[in-house]
Amino acid sequence: MKKLVVAIDGPAGAGKSTVARMLAKRLNYIYIDTGAMYRAITFEVISKGLSPKDDEAIAKLAQKVHIELKNTEGAAMVLVDGKNVTEEIRTPEVSRLVPEIAQNREVRQAMLLLQRRLASQGGVVMDGRDIGTNVLPNAEVKIFLTASIEERAQRRYLELKAKGFAVHLEDLKQEIAARDKQDSERPIAPLVQAADAKLLDTTSLAILEVVTKILNICEERASIV
Ligand code: C5P
Repeated sequence: MKKLVVAIDGPAGAGKSTVARMLAKRLNYIYIDTGAMYRAITFEVISKGLSPKDDEAIAKLAQKVHIELKNTEGAAMVLVDGKNVTEEIRTPEVSRLVPEIAQNREVRQAMLLLQRRLASQGGVVMDGRDIGTNVLPNAEVKIFLTASIEERAQRRYLELKAKGFAVHLEDLKQEIAARDKQDSERPIAPLVQAADAKLLDTTSLAILEVVTKILNICEERASIV
């Protein structure tokens, strides 16, 4: 099968990363979690004590910070300037702050260049908010994954609880809704379904069903490109 570029976008908690990771494994492709990159910069902003409002300092940071996604023995690692921040970037504090940092023009530009470089050889599944619309507009397969806010909050709740965070479902629902609003309303590369993306509502679908549906779309595409 021809090596495709697969773009998966959608709101927070729709299951993008789980689905994208499984899909990449099945296709033997590279998985690129672009949300992890924005989270990594946000983590650096916090640990360096920068103000999230200090656009200039954040722009400078984005230009010099070195972000790496490493896949070793099935586990995805996120490194910032060589430091492993895989766990740290998933805290509720980072989740709350990341949409503000992701609005910064220079941050987006630096991430765009990195993401395009990583996808340049094909055979990639990349997930995020602006992949099909902005980062990889020529991707052969574009999926817009969504689910009801209740379902998305519930999934995030179970995920965070399993990691030992003390979280409340109602708080998560509000946080997810606020994050989607910020991501959808920002002027640069907002969260929006690409005109040529296939919409998949995963509310009442099992993960495997979603993966199978996308695999079928990939096979269909690969046979005609
Ligand atoms: O995918 P995840 O929920 O980890 O993404 C965290 C945040 O990173 C999003 O809410 C959004 O603010 C930002 N993001 C983005 N563009 C992407 C991926 C993520 O702005 N392509």
